[in-house]
Amino acid sequence: MNATRRNFIRNLACSAGAAFLMGKTAHAAKSEAAPMKISTQEGLLPGATVAERLDSLEKYGFDAMELSGGGLPGRVKEIQEALKGRDVKISAVCAGYGGCLISPDAAERNTAVEDMKKILAACGELGSTGLIFVPAFKSQYNVPDLSPYKSKYDLSRALLVEQLKPLGEYALSCGTRLLMEPLNRYEAQFLNRVADAVAICGEVGSKGVCVMADFFHMNIEEADKAAAIHAGGALLHHIHLADNTRKLPGQGEMNYVPGFRALQQIGYPDYCSLECGILGDAKEELPKCVKFLREQWSLAAKA
Ligand code: MG
Repeated sequence: MNATRRNFIRNLACSAGAAFLMGKTAHAAKSEAAPMKISTQEGLLPGATVAERLDSLEKYGFDAMELSGGGLPGRVKEIQEALKGRDVKISAVCAGYGGCLISPDAAERNTAVEDMKKILAACGELGSTGLIFVPAFKSQYNVPDLSPYKSKYDLSRALLVEQLKPLGEYALSCGTRLLMEPLNRYEAQFLNRVADAVAICGEVGSKGVCVMADFFHMNIEEADKAAAIHAGGALLHHIHLADNTRKLPGQGEMNYVPGFRALQQIGYPDYCSLECGILGDAKEELPKCVKFLREQWSLAAKA
């Protein structure tokens, strides 16, 4: 067991049951807001190699980089080498697996499980807080309606819960977790809201299955982003950021203060990560975005 994995398990033990005792809804309380931990997806960073992209990451003032899960098991050693001697970390890993956990086709479900296991092992090796997954995109929501036995939704949800029980335990054994991501209604029908993801986690009952929240999707689906973040509470372990047109934060009209204030109130311990496009030159716009986000976080702390 490496040091990253030992620390992960110790941290879990310290917050014994915190994430899954549904009565306790926040991370450990803090007397004042912790500094914001900002990450970006790797694809936004200038650089031909992972080392060059990490150079950009450091130069622009980020704290961490989010990776795609596609091909990640074969990149672990290269990324570990590139991280040596740097303070920046890997925040999370986004998808990159085949199949679908709630496909009516057993082969598709099996592909998802086996691919996800390989990526979870890589997550553990790289110190990622988790593997982000979407239970089903719109085109993948194909479980039949078996009413009056179970509706399409109820059957899909029951299937997902059964799939996640062993997969969550596998994630824990790797020193990481699964992070369920609700998407907006135009991209997914099965899961749109943070509170619904929390309810599914409650049914699964594994500390290895948690939730992430995406400001772009919340802007469409949640009447109150702060309330959604409070609903996520101690189960919330990653955040995606984009402005209302899915460009860099600061390039649209979204007000981040209420959501950031809610993150501060729940003692959110993990990263907020860019998942968006860029208007203009990344070399100029990324550092501006980091500055903008830190200002919004400071305003939230005073709100
Ligand atoms: Mg997202």
